[in-house]
Amino acid sequence: MSGKGSPRLEPGATIGVLGGGQLGRMLALAAAPLGLKVAVFDPAPGSPAFEVSGTHVCADWDDEAALARFADLCDVITLEFENVPVPAVEFLAARVPVRPGAGSLRVSQDRLVEKEFIAGLGIAVAPFAAVGSLDSLQTALAALGPDAILKTRRMGYDGKGQVRLSAGSDPGQAWQAIGEAPAILEGVVPFVAETSAIIARGMDGAIAAWDCPRNDHHGGILRRSSLPGPLDGPAQDRAVAIAGTIAAALDHVGVLTVEFFLTADGALLVNEIAPRTHNSGHWSIEGAHASQFTNNIRAVAGWPLAPTARRFVAVEMINLIGADVLEVEKLISETDAWLHLYGKSDVRDGRKMGHITRVCAL
Ligand code: AMP
Repeated sequence: MSGKGSPRLEPGATIGVLGGGQLGRMLALAAAPLGLKVAVFDPAPGSPAFEVSGTHVCADWDDEAALARFADLCDVITLEFENVPVPAVEFLAARVPVRPGAGSLRVSQDRLVEKEFIAGLGIAVAPFAAVGSLDSLQTALAALGPDAILKTRRMGYDGKGQVRLSAGSDPGQAWQAIGEAPAILEGVVPFVAETSAIIARGMDGAIAAWDCPRNDHHGGILRRSSLPGPLDGPAQDRAVAIAGTIAAALDHVGVLTVEFFLTADGALLVNEIAPRTHNSGHWSIEGAHASQFTNNIRAVAGWPLAPTARRFVAVEMINLIGADVLEVEKLISETDAWLHLYGKSDVRDGRKMGHITRVCAL
């Protein structure tokens, strides 16, 4: 039973993807073996997902004629980018199911709303305070500082829109550095490791989860995700249960990622959530029975979720960031690893150009 709004898509149906970056590209690549077609919407010409999807629409998020054309192409719509403007999602959702829906986006687009929502579920987060002026920054610093991070509420990712403060920092300078935009101040969490719970949630509420990797960042950008991760069995169950609670509260369908700080006493604090597949889950393409991309497609298509168990004793995923990708000669010679290049021609500092996954079978 195919067609718009039907609970389970037939092979041959078209899944729309909002956003055409590398996550959209890997979603399209995962849909193909399931016999599902993909249409991609992105305002940027030459988006990495365009060249691996059957159709695309390249237009601005406020172009209603283009959005309507896109909705006509799709049986269901999912997303790879959490900053899709909510009015665009609402416009589409009036025509075709969008999974996850606007509710998941509203929460994850705003760090303050996100933190309040998660804390409201009784889940631990980094200590935080709302900042709307230099005065409120100074008050928040007195409560949470001196070591703290000032983050814009909206549009921050990969460490962008953030300033670190410590004893002796000038709050006025920090406030200017983030453009005096609505912000939150977070106390610095003395974590021993960072990890993430990535889960897929089906339309029936069923959940599939992947092992939680150890995530290493450099300069606010994920550099490496590796398994086994930092959590023992019970701690991983706790992380997955937290992600499940958040997903259920959002009535989320699709993949949801929850980033955590692990502290020395074993506490897990939520850093942030992403209502989508995540860089720290790329290892699952080869390292797990079904990848995060396959189960995102299955979930939004109304299909049962596929098994997510890890297939190797150890897996590591290394991001190829900026000039890393210029070592292409060396990378393609490494034949016992899986190389992924995202087809981005323009090499820029901090830009994710690809990744490489290595495994240890033992
Ligand atoms: P974010 O964009 O919020 O995920 O931050 C990027 C990275 O900065 C995180 O993965 C951490 O390594 C670091 N970071 C962010 N917030 C905090 C915090 N409250 N305490 C300690 N480190 C943080």
